[in-house]
Amino acid sequence: MPSVIGQQIKIVSADGAYLTTDTGARLLDGTASLWYANIGHGREEMAQIAYEQMKKLEAYHVFGRYTNDRAIELSEKLRSIAPFDDAKVILNSGGSDSIDVALKLARRYWNHIGRANKKVIISREHSYHGLHAYGTSVAGLDFNREGYGTDSLVDGTERIEKHDAGAFADAIERIGAENIAAYIAEPVMGTGGVHPPQPGYFKEIQRLCHENDILFIADEVITGFGRTGEMFASTRYQLRPDIVTFAKGVTSGYAALGGILVAPRVWRPFFENGADSPTYRHGTTYSGHPVTAALALKNMEILERENLIARSAALEEVLTAELKALESHELVKTTRVGGFLGGIELSDKVNAEFVTDKIIEHGFITRPLRGNTVQISPPFILTDQELRGLVRAVGTVLDSLKAGTPQVTA
Ligand code: PLP
Repeated sequence: MPSVIGQQIKIVSADGAYLTTDTGARLLDGTASLWYANIGHGREEMAQIAYEQMKKLEAYHVFGRYTNDRAIELSEKLRSIAPFDDAKVILNSGGSDSIDVALKLARRYWNHIGRANKKVIISREHSYHGLHAYGTSVAGLDFNREGYGTDSLVDGTERIEKHDAGAFADAIERIGAENIAAYIAEPVMGTGGVHPPQPGYFKEIQRLCHENDILFIADEVITGFGRTGEMFASTRYQLRPDIVTFAKGVTSGYAALGGILVAPRVWRPFFENGADSPTYRHGTTYSGHPVTAALALKNMEILERENLIARSAALEEVLTAELKALESHELVKTTRVGGFLGGIELSDKVNAEFVTDKIIEHGFITRPLRGNTVQISPPFILTDQELRGLVRAVGTVLDSLKAGTPQVTA
């Protein structure tokens, strides 16, 4: 493919792990779009299920006395795969929605049980939790919080260093456990540069949450639905969250869907007194949309039928070996893998944006992330050979830069 430096690329079709542009170029999708095309693109049976559901019931709201069969079926399915027992499910339209509903619920929970001071939300530096009001406010990527004339759109948010649980202990000391509602983290940090958890980090975080009565929220928008070789990364990393947020891989991107899984500790107070219990007043027009739900169910059926979560775990091993081999390259600072997500942190001598543009010319899509890092997170359906080809294309581009190709930044 000719140079794409500084140019938009128009995708017109896709199948499996490949995308086709309006100029006819065929590109391997090395990032699964924005971390979500887990089952791959262009599945006929996904189109078929959407068509059948639309003919039968294209939509009806899930509000008041109304519900629909697909929304119920999906909620039951999600309950059965949740990383804790007896989950309740709230459905919405995407990851940012899920963050807003989770953090609202955390505050609503404490308020309802008579501890209204517990409001502060703690998140990690370099984290990404979407861009609705709560997500913007807890963002650890500072540029997403800037420009609103205040430190935070939603008050009462704090960020801490991302790998050191001691920073959480310090924050608790400084803010006071009686004022803290929740801690939120991505099990494997994605947009912040692909950072898997340090050994023992979450164990200590959870101990501190438990001791100080702080809710633990796992943002599994990227990691959910197989990305770390388990249905949820909470299982992989032995997390016991009070709330899990999900989106992306729940439909592999075939429809806009997100939601949260809520553990009994948090939902019980809202059900304890029968009809006299308070209502958690949150819902959106498309919560429980039947076409979206049908697509999510079919997506999960495909993940299970084709053993794609085990395949994701196998691909992680190939990725780990390939990235290890790349570490000796003089233009690579380090590499990181956490599940089937890889990050290649480049030396300061090269620029990840330029490098990813050059990789496109070799027929592969990767993406520059914070920290001069190249993202690798393909669909689960590519072959070992295709994955090796992708990582080796990064090496080829770096070789050409080492050999002195002038570097231009877009
Ligand atoms: N949380 C995480 C960890 C994400 O990576 C993202 C999106 O990339 C979001 C939340 C927001 O999701 P959405 O873009 O679907 O609103």
